[in-house]
Amino acid sequence: MKPIKELVVATHNKKKLKEIQVLLRNTGIKVLCLDDFKNVPLVKETGKTFKANAKKKAVKTSRFLKRIVLAEDSGLEVAALNNRPGVYSSRFSGKEKDDFMNNLKLLRLLGKIPSRGRKAKYQCAVAVADGSRVIYCVQSNCEGFIGFEFKGTSGFGYDPLFISPIHKKTFAQLGEAIKNKISHRAKAFQRLREFLLNRS
Ligand code: IMP
Repeated sequence: MKPIKELVVATHNKKKLKEIQVLLRNTGIKVLCLDDFKNVPLVKETGKTFKANAKKKAVKTSRFLKRIVLAEDSGLEVAALNNRPGVYSSRFSGKEKDDFMNNLKLLRLLGKIPSRGRKAKYQCAVAVADGSRVIYCVQSNCEGFIGFEFKGTSGFGYDPLFISPIHKKTFAQLGEAIKNKISHRAKAFQRLREFLLNRS
């Protein structure tokens, strides 16, 4: 197997990209993103699962760029909401990528449900494609619960509401260094790193 020297991460989300760059540190792999290229078509996330979306995004983008592409699809599943918002996490409130409105909707739907009924899981699926071929795909999760108010300023998305049961703080309060050790993304990328390092 040929070692991978360069990966294009199929995202425009700067905060997500920053986390991914940290998680791929010391692999010797050059990490590029969609902003490094012109006119890359947007891939619609129409899949019913995180893995399906990650694979679709990786394959379509890899075929277009003719480079090895890593795509990630992640989101939040809340048990009391039948695992919603799930694959619709970024557009939960209707508008695409409005973190504040998404969080407000989540707080409204959970209302006064006590902590024990506010269990949630972050999910992260990662796929790597070389043209039409998916050469690696993995999904990991991270358990927590949803708070009653916004706390902290770090991270993105639902981080101001997502509480780590071990630390009793939101991901937005814990900050990048701790989040990058315990998050769904950290776990998925740990497994991806093993795959990448075994190829070199
Ligand atoms: P994607 O870009 O389609 O994968 O959207 C993922 C969405 O899930 C984001 O817009 C967030 O709402 C949520 N999400 C995924 N990972 C995280 C995270 O690490 N922290 C907070 N929210 C996240």
